[in-house]
Amino acid sequence: MEQARQADEAVPFFRHDLGSLELEAIREVLAGDILTTGDYVRGFEEKFAKYLNIAEVIGLSSCTGALHLALIGLGLKPGDEVITTPMTFVATVTAIMCAQGKPVFVDVEAETGNMDVNKIRAVITDKTRFIMPVHLYGQMCDMGALRALADEYNLKIIEDSAHCIEGHRDGIRPGQLSEAACFSFYATKNMTSGEGGALATRHEDLCRRLRTLSQHGMTKNANDRYKEGYRHWDVLELGWKYNMDNLQGALLNCQMSRLDEKLRARQQRAHYYRQRLMELSGVEMPAVLDGVGHAWHLMTVWLDPELRDSIILALQKEKIGCVVNYRAVHGLTYFSQQLGCSKSDFAIAADIGDRTLSLPFYPTMSYQQIDRVIVALERALAAHA
Ligand SMILES: *Cc1c(COP(=O)(O)O)cnc(C)c1O
Repeated sequence: MEQARQADEAVPFFRHDLGSLELEAIREVLAGDILTTGDYVRGFEEKFAKYLNIAEVIGLSSCTGALHLALIGLGLKPGDEVITTPMTFVATVTAIMCAQGKPVFVDVEAETGNMDVNKIRAVITDKTRFIMPVHLYGQMCDMGALRALADEYNLKIIEDSAHCIEGHRDGIRPGQLSEAACFSFYATKNMTSGEGGALATRHEDLCRRLRTLSQHGMTKNANDRYKEGYRHWDVLELGWKYNMDNLQGALLNCQMSRLDEKLRARQQRAHYYRQRLMELSGVEMPAVLDGVGHAWHLMTVWLDPELRDSIILALQKEKIGCVVNYRAVHGLTYFSQQLGCSKSDFAIAADIGDRTLSLPFYPTMSYQQIDRVIVALERALAAHA
């Protein structure tokens, strides 16, 4: 009976695990006076900086905002070129375009889906200013190689680390070799405040400047006024509003101590998932390279492009949540029109975009649920073979 019930129970794509600790943290913030940026944000920033082993973290309202802020704060001028990957969420590219930069794509590695570092040199021009890698699915790009290349051409690096809070590669963590690494705490990310983001940097002067720019460029913020009483403030530079509030700060602060435990839970589930998936014919998976400490954000399979969309329908019919991360950005209507690219220009990314599927995956997912996903996927593959 129990077995039968479990066999057709819905498996959501993601389920958050925020509970009594977070509720208590929110209660504490509400009992105080400061709901906007204040001591809870500061507390989170300090903890997260220590976790990443980096000098500075700024809590922000989103990763998209963090990317935009980093670009304008690091001096992007209209028309400057930013080299990035088409195998990403649109935010990477919209941040560049909203800052009036020009995205220049390079194709990705077929094994990992990450930006192919070897293809960068060929697209560098005298307008190139930035490289913006994305650590896809939680596997870091080769930051050592990127840094060497960036230094050779005097380029700045901004990491889109939305998938990679916990990851590392060759002992390097996000932010340690770049100008800035940007994180997301969106609802389905490894750590979440519903919406939220952060920027990590080893450059303290840059951090001071970005902090100001994240609050309209104002020389004082609400928390200063609360602590010091009202003093006149000024605006020295054009900024935008990207600050994190105390409710978000408190929610994130109390998840920090569970980060590694949750990573271990995802590692174990990823290991089991991938072993089971290997038994299925018609299923490929991204490789995990030597030296990589994977953050395991998504459980990705690569399928026959002719079958992918029918398999999504079949899984959804069985109440199994799934998502596509991502159809390649350069093929989406707006970007292909604005940037004048066609799907075949970055053929490997386009191909991954046609084949990729993200299966349900989160630290509290049971092994029975994983089995249920595997069985449903196997059935869908058999039906469409
Ligand atoms: C989620 C995500 C973003 C955007 O994060 P927000 O916090 O929602 O702005 C950017 N890039 C990638 C790769 C993402 O997965």
